[in-house]
Amino acid sequence: MDRVLDTACVWTNAAYIIAGAAVAPVNAAGGIALMLLGVLSGLWHVSGSHPALIGDRYGMYLVAIVLMTHVGMLPEAAYWAAPLAALPLALWVNSYTGVPPLIALSVGYRWDVLQIGALTLLVASICNLIALPHEPRHSRLYEVLHGLWHLLTAAAFVIMFHQTA
Ligand SMILES: [Zn+2]
Repeated sequence: MDRVLDTACVWTNAAYIIAGAAVAPVNAAGGIALMLLGVLSGLWHVSGSHPALIGDRYGMYLVAIVLMTHVGMLPEAAYWAAPLAALPLALWVNSYTGVPPLIALSVGYRWDVLQIGALTLLVASICNLIALPHEPRHSRLYEVLHGLWHLLTAAAFVIMFHQTA
């Protein structure tokens, strides 16, 4: 049990891969982006290295840009530009600074149907914010709360892609 909790930050990334499979029927790019996020975030939580951190951010920016395109904020061509556009963001902009505004734009754009998804993201963010001051890898509380962040954000993305399909 201890071992499972110790690695909650890693195994909960499976939720992104499952979410990707759930999103793929309504948006193939969203499905791929979520699965990639699951792999990249998993690698980040396993290794803790700087390149892996960039990879984790890249996955999040990719999902955010694809969601913006899916809800109709960006033209269809943005699906093809997203893998490129996410790169400088991942390299130079901290995900806590850059990702929430992008998601918020999508939520604002389709607020009529995205309220449940937004609420789920809000609860996820609160879990993550409570976890942040605690040391990753050494705190059981961090592992559980950050694991919850993975599970809840994965659920939120499934809800958001389906509600705007
Ligand atoms: Zn994480």
